[in-house]
Amino acid sequence: MKIGILSLNASLYSTKRLVDAGDKLGHEMHVIDYLRCYMNITAHKPIVVYKGQPLEGFDAIIPRIGASKTFYGTAVVRQFEMMGVFTANRSQAISRSRDKLRCLQLLAKKGIGLPVTGFAHSPKDIEGLIDIVGGPPLVIKLLEGTQGIGVVLAETTQAAKSVIEAFRGLDANILVQEFIKEADGMDIRCFVVGDKVVASMKRQGAPGEFRSNLHRGGSAEQIKLTPEERSIAVRAAKTMGLNIAGVDILRSNHGSVVMELNSSPGLGGIEKATGKDVAGKIIEFLEKEGTLGKNSDRVEY
Ligand code: ADP
Repeated sequence: MKIGILSLNASLYSTKRLVDAGDKLGHEMHVIDYLRCYMNITAHKPIVVYKGQPLEGFDAIIPRIGASKTFYGTAVVRQFEMMGVFTANRSQAISRSRDKLRCLQLLAKKGIGLPVTGFAHSPKDIEGLIDIVGGPPLVIKLLEGTQGIGVVLAETTQAAKSVIEAFRGLDANILVQEFIKEADGMDIRCFVVGDKVVASMKRQGAPGEFRSNLHRGGSAEQIKLTPEERSIAVRAAKTMGLNIAGVDILRSNHGSVVMELNSSPGLGGIEKATGKDVAGKIIEFLEKEGTLGKNSDRVEY
């Protein structure tokens, strides 16, 4: 197959691993900087031009779209869809999953366990919002945050009010969540490919840190999921219409709950922690699904 990886940087671990895995399985691999793609909007013969040359003959693409480049990145993915090229994740699913509130609303509708979560727009509604999630301690999150930046633990109502007021004062969108204390700074990353979890790791925050992000000094190792957790992770990805997803789970007193989904999950942390060939699983998924011509999005919202 001729496979394109939409990535800004060919030397990133994840990009390199996908190229290697594809090469190893006999495919023709190309890294495409999607910010250098331009397109014609036409019904007749849509094309993507890359650095002056039209991209032709591609069977499949693997989008690795950065959170800050979602708007343009998904437009490029959509153009490939218009050209009939199979994509590992559809443009709509990527956009959908980038909106944390939309994600949580969709997951809740499907009955997938979540931390009790609330959101509000007006600072006048702060007290009601704090009530909705059962009072302190609670976690306040910036909707636009990644890598644990903008995730704050408030232990008292006063602290919660101050933080919410400060964020709202900056016009930032936030959500408020019950604090799952019993997770004890640990979360689980499930790497879903198609309808399977192909690797899973637990991430433990540094001592005294409730956030387990590796970027915040957390450590990672392989973990065995319960059958229920496997099923939650696969259902969560399916609910969002994602074929490839990182599903983050917390173990709470009321069962395992989904915290968030990532449509371009990194391969570095998980391959190193588990020793699994996750990149190879993604290429095998393309081999299987990319030739079936099944490429639609059936999610309602
Ligand atoms: P980001 O998308 O910025 O990584 P997350 O929502 O994943 O933000 O939160 C970062 C970390 O904080 C998580 O990996 C988890 O360890 C911890 N965390 C997030 N929400 C909660 C919560 N409701 N209860 C307990 N810990 C949480």
